[in-house]
Amino acid sequence: METETVDFLIIGSGVAGLRAAIELAPHGNVLVATKDMPTESSTEYAQGGIAVALSDEDKVGIHFEDTLKAGDGLCNEDAVKILVEEGPERILELISWGAEFDKEGTKLDFTIEAAHSRKRVLHAGGDSTGKELERVLLNKVRSFPSVKKYPFAFTVDLIIKNGECCGAYILKDRKMTAVIARATILCTGGAGQIFARTTNPMVATGDGMAIAFRAGAQLEDMEFIQFHPTSLCSQYAPQFLLSEAMRGEGAILRNINKEPFMKNYHRDAELAPRDIVSRAIISEMVKTESSHVYLDMTHLEKDFVRKRFPQIYSTCLRYNVDITSGLIPVSPAAHYIMGGVRTDINGVTSIKRLYAAGEVACTGVHGANRLASNSLLEGLVYGARTGRAALEFRVQSPRATRRGESSEFEVSEYPHTYHTIPEH
Ligand SMILES: Cc1cc2nc3c(=O)[nH]c(=O)nc-3n(C[C@H](O)[C@H](O)[C@H](O)COP(=O)(O)OP(=O)(O)OC[C@H]3O[C@@H](n4cnc5c(N)ncnc54)[C@H](O)[C@@H]3O)c2cc1C
Repeated sequence: METETVDFLIIGSGVAGLRAAIELAPHGNVLVATKDMPTESSTEYAQGGIAVALSDEDKVGIHFEDTLKAGDGLCNEDAVKILVEEGPERILELISWGAEFDKEGTKLDFTIEAAHSRKRVLHAGGDSTGKELERVLLNKVRSFPSVKKYPFAFTVDLIIKNGECCGAYILKDRKMTAVIARATILCTGGAGQIFARTTNPMVATGDGMAIAFRAGAQLEDMEFIQFHPTSLCSQYAPQFLLSEAMRGEGAILRNINKEPFMKNYHRDAELAPRDIVSRAIISEMVKTESSHVYLDMTHLEKDFVRKRFPQIYSTCLRYNVDITSGLIPVSPAAHYIMGGVRTDINGVTSIKRLYAAGEVACTGVHGANRLASNSLLEGLVYGARTGRAALEFRVQSPRATRRGESSEFEVSEYPHTYHTIPEH
């Protein structure tokens, strides 16, 4: 089997993987392996925005409280503190790299989403925030000659020797390669595709969690799956996400009899936390024996709706749903996994030299229920922190040998017997 040696191996090219790569690029050679095109990720499809306490009416402490409240008392408070405190710096840095968030006049335009008590969600291109993040981060990554990208390179398993992670087995062009690395960072995103209804792209199959579990890493909070309340539910249409920001801008939920119902479930009505809205929708669907409820934006200014949600407007129109003039059939769909590979606040997992960041990881920052728009921020903040942690470790760790040299990591073949489930 071929072997390749790098300083840092990053698996996944969403927000977390790219941000980690940027942190590591000045300090060694970095390989970013990703199983599809570099942009194909949940990050690319993120619509609503990215939460950050930067508006005049907001404070880091209020973002902290809102995150804890949404997390149902199960958040790791240290992880939340880091998220909200380091978030503003990560966003300003992103803007300095060329990110263009929507503005009102000369000021950044912050919107409100469910369970946020202040306007704090930045957005780009109306409802294409993730695309803008991927664009900027990929451009930044391209500026470092030390970063190599392997698209269509599927990571199958980790290479574990003497209890340490020494890299990963990667399938590319039908050939298995053992990539040897001083530090390996899993940034493989979520697992929505294990559900029949999901907003997640095809790449979100939980590979990182499975790979880590097979290698003996600890997973945590795997039972906490967030269901997004409003995904398009129409016979021939994809399960397309209808952003929370639509309710933030005033959209109303109605049952199949066209009656608004959210006030019966929570005082914040449409802006209650996601888990409450999803459960309310399911209750109404059961009560009315229907496969969906409706999202109604018809009372909002048509031009505003088209401008604010251009991608959602044009996608729905393709399936004969005009969101400016008709009711939109919606139902909940699996959206985000709060659990994942257990890490500390620096992305350190229970296996030496293995790190994890982004949706695949579980720092406990989201508790039992993620606050809307906190996960892109998580990718930036924890991607950067995990990069720094891997760097510190690399300073103390032995240098991996280059191709052709004899190596402490001799790997003769891919050990298929490895696929036994370890006992915990
Ligand atoms: C439709 C949608 C809308 C969303 N809207 C928002 C929003 O507005 N705001 C917000 O904060 N969050 C939003 N989210 C959630 C957010 O987008 C994700 O949680 C976040 O982008 C995850 O980033 P990540 O870097 O951890 O993973 P991802 O962006 O999913 O990237 C994972 C990467 O890993 C690669 N990969 C996976 N398995 C393997 C393997 N075996 N081998 C090699 N590569 C692999 C994938 O190809 C991909 O490149 C949304 C999610 C979806 C699906």
